[in-house]
Amino acid sequence: MKKYDVIVVGAGTAGCLAAKTAAEAGLDVGFVDRKPKEKIGEKICGDAVGKHHFDTLGLKYPSGDELRSRIEGIKVYSPNMEAVYQIEGKMLYGFIVNRLLFGQRLLRLAVDAGAELLDSTQVLEPILEDNAVTGVLVRDIKRENKSRLRSKVVVDASGFLAILRRKLPQEIGVDTEVSNEDVEACYREIRQLDGNAANPDFCEIYLDQNTAPQGYYWIFPEGETRINVGLGVRMAEDFPRPKPQLYSKVLSKPLFEGSTLITGGAWYVPTRRPLDCMTGNGIVMVGDSACQVNPIHGGGMGPSMLGGMFAGETIAEALEKEDVTREGLWQYNVRYMQSYGAKQAGLDVFRLFLIQGVDDEELDYGMKHRLITEDDFLKASRGENVRLNITEATRRLSRGLGKLSMLRRLRNAARLMREIKTLYKNYPDSPKGFVEWKKGTHELISMAKRLLARKQ
Ligand SMILES: Cc1cc2nc3c(=O)[nH]c(=O)nc-3n(C[C@H](O)[C@H](O)[C@H](O)COP(=O)(O)OP(=O)(O)OC[C@H]3O[C@@H](n4cnc5c(N)ncnc54)[C@H](O)[C@@H]3O)c2cc1C
Repeated sequence: MKKYDVIVVGAGTAGCLAAKTAAEAGLDVGFVDRKPKEKIGEKICGDAVGKHHFDTLGLKYPSGDELRSRIEGIKVYSPNMEAVYQIEGKMLYGFIVNRLLFGQRLLRLAVDAGAELLDSTQVLEPILEDNAVTGVLVRDIKRENKSRLRSKVVVDASGFLAILRRKLPQEIGVDTEVSNEDVEACYREIRQLDGNAANPDFCEIYLDQNTAPQGYYWIFPEGETRINVGLGVRMAEDFPRPKPQLYSKVLSKPLFEGSTLITGGAWYVPTRRPLDCMTGNGIVMVGDSACQVNPIHGGGMGPSMLGGMFAGETIAEALEKEDVTREGLWQYNVRYMQSYGAKQAGLDVFRLFLIQGVDDEELDYGMKHRLITEDDFLKASRGENVRLNITEATRRLSRGLGKLSMLRRLRNAARLMREIKTLYKNYPDSPKGFVEWKKGTHELISMAKRLLARKQ
């Protein structure tokens, strides 16, 4: 039976970059997806991706049919729509892509680098031997037969379903479950407008707890006359179903009068910091399977590609050293945590502030009077520290009399964001310091939940 160096499970953005990077390093890569080749890349998504991700990864910008729109920035609307933050700047330039064509390009890059694609092949479970993953059990969807594929390392890039992660034994040292409270249930449609998009150069984000509890809804332009519109709600207790919410509260807006449905569907996105540990003996998690998504806006294409690239590089190094244990693969955790993971963790705290620390009325007031500023959003989105020095706090205080407790929570959020980022920047260099690091991280998140919650 053939044994690969690496089997990558899932040919989404994460898997393609992992397979491409590993194949470019000269490894023998098996690349498995349950979809037929021509459908790979299709995904329920907002389709927005920052330009800076392409620069970091050395990928060409989308062009031709793959490019739907160029984006200058984001407009964030307060719940009562009285305040609009227009947030622009280099880090917010981006693209709306044709998701299928973008995915097909990434797939081609992986296959051209030498990865062997096994499409229409569903992965059922990991093969485990002596507490290590040594391959996967698969079902050929067309021929209806099952077989085993063997490899030295397996990459779980199966997206939110995390088909392998969820089936790992506890001893492997990876958290197998993600709390529903850290997941947004989404429904999205692409619609052809009767007229023109109001803001063809901006992604619009609407914060409104009545419409999208503990989430938001978005209106993204796909050219002059097409819109990618969707809504996400946090899967906390009794959350409303996103599709009826979108139909009753968003598609009822004048912009959508006479519009027609091109395609629609529901899916999930994890919106938290990355998994504490993304490696086990013989296995690595990347992309949504490792919760590599920006917790504030749910953007996961960029970080998942970065995770895929880091995973491919680390696996090549581990194979060179002939050590594919959790320890041998550990540098993947370090690389990801010190770069995007630290930003994600900071934003997870900012998310806790937004969902627990302010209600619609406070947000309306806070945005209108600039108690929370565009700069806060911009800095948070860039992963920079949000700072409120004494003068700044006093100035905001004078604008926000009566909103003292919200300002206190914002200040606590800013402090905790800095602290958690420092923790992630100092992610342990080997599994030795991990238990202590994890304890510190969880204590900080518990503190954030306590300090940032509004008193009812
Ligand atoms: C509604 C919505 C809107 C979003 N908007 C944006 C946005 O605007 N910008 C952005 O950057 N991100 C956005 N995201 C997040 C983004 O789509 C994901 O974070 C990103 O696609 C993660 O990529 P991935 O490769 O980890 O997973 P996926 O893209 O989900 O790929 C997983 C792959 O694994 C395959 N697979 C799954 N199970 C199996 C199995 N058992 N066997 C074989 N193959 C399997 C699937 O077929 C798929 O090809 C959004 C997500 C949602 C749900």
